[in-house]
Amino acid sequence: MDFRLSEEHQALRDSVRDFAREVVAPVIAEHYEQHTFPYEVIRQMGKMGLFGLPFAEEYGGMGGDYFALCLALEELARVDSSVAITLEAAVSLGAMPIYRFGTEEQKARWLPKLLSGEALAGFGLTEPGTGSDAGGTETRAVLDGDEWVINGSKAFITNSGTDITALVTVTAVTGTRPDGAKELSTIIVPSGTPGFTVAPGYSKVGWTASDTHELTFDDCRVPAENLLGERGRGFAQFLRILDEGRIAIAALAVGLAQGCVDESIKYARERHAFGQPIGNYQAIQFKVADMEMKAHTARLAYYDAAARMLAGEPFKRQAAIAKLHASTIAVDNAREATQIHGGYGFMNEYPVARFWRDSKILEIGEGTSEVQRMIIARDLGM
Ligand SMILES: Cc1cc2nc3c(=O)[nH]c(=O)nc-3n(C[C@H](O)[C@H](O)[C@H](O)COP(=O)(O)OP(=O)(O)OC[C@H]3O[C@@H](n4cnc5c(N)ncnc54)[C@H](O)[C@@H]3O)c2cc1C
Repeated sequence: MDFRLSEEHQALRDSVRDFAREVVAPVIAEHYEQHTFPYEVIRQMGKMGLFGLPFAEEYGGMGGDYFALCLALEELARVDSSVAITLEAAVSLGAMPIYRFGTEEQKARWLPKLLSGEALAGFGLTEPGTGSDAGGTETRAVLDGDEWVINGSKAFITNSGTDITALVTVTAVTGTRPDGAKELSTIIVPSGTPGFTVAPGYSKVGWTASDTHELTFDDCRVPAENLLGERGRGFAQFLRILDEGRIAIAALAVGLAQGCVDESIKYARERHAFGQPIGNYQAIQFKVADMEMKAHTARLAYYDAAARMLAGEPFKRQAAIAKLHASTIAVDNAREATQIHGGYGFMNEYPVARFWRDSKILEIGEGTSEVQRMIIARDLGM
């Protein structure tokens, strides 16, 4: 058993850490405040190869692995979660379905631009009326000659409306199974397709420099060959994508939790109360010690889930545990870091205010904490 990083993983972690501090940190507060998408930061992340990390070189990827992506997400989220979720959604939800399930033509057409970060893809699963119960999808796609005709809507879709968004993969009901259940399939809808409308961005509590929209499909027609993988495999496809994505979200949550430790130590050294730095008080030290303990244990949980996934072993339960634990402790750490900052912690100019606002969604997105508990309990045979 060895939890130490390889030289390649260490080098990647260090370069993303430097990038987050030197490039992301100076500009992100402004984007966060103005709710603007950080195109220039994303362009530079593309040049660094971050969007291609876990993909084979033949498609323009970096030939790395999913754990490398997780390390990059952790380091980005240590400074800012909007940028981190943009990368997470672009890679694990956007490009990955095409990489895993696409035809060679689909891969050749879309992957080079997605893996270079030149273009982004959204993953359209959630709908206004159904999220956790994704089998309740109402969006429909009917085959009419050699075209799919799509009608319905999707809610909260990340990266779906930027200037560089190339496509959204959409889950839709394409028929009825012999047992009467809905047949779900996934279809690629390129941006700008007539009948595909992207609503203005949501007004969000956090992740305000990331891109999230409601989408509507009104007799939206795409070629039959835009079906992703086999017809009727939509349910299995998104379960696989979400299982992996949970490890990535756990890494992002660990980054936020660690960022809370960083900012708390810095502030506790500078802020004086009753004649000395507040960091001299054991009550503050114990808070920081607990925060570090939580970030560390959550990191081990996602390392374990990623290691199992890369070894080709079952990892569903471990991914759910990692996501559940990391998101819970991210919220804990954000609350405590804010407390250590006193009144300044409630001011948007301090990074901890961003951490606090960005933490809650981690217990909701890509499967709520209740859903993670359901997955864990089911895997235990309950
Ligand atoms: C900023 C943001 C970005 C997002 N990006 C994407 C994206 O790119 N693509 C995408 O497809 N989706 C995306 N989502 C959607 C996200 O994954 C869903 O919001 C999430 O899965 C929860 O679904 P819901 O909001 O419909 O909540 P619901 O499913 O309505 O749940 C409401 C509450 O009920 C609980 N609940 C539901 N069922 C049960 C049960 N059986 N037992 C106990 N409790 C239960 C839930 O845990 C939750 O607390 C995003 C959401 C946000 C806010």
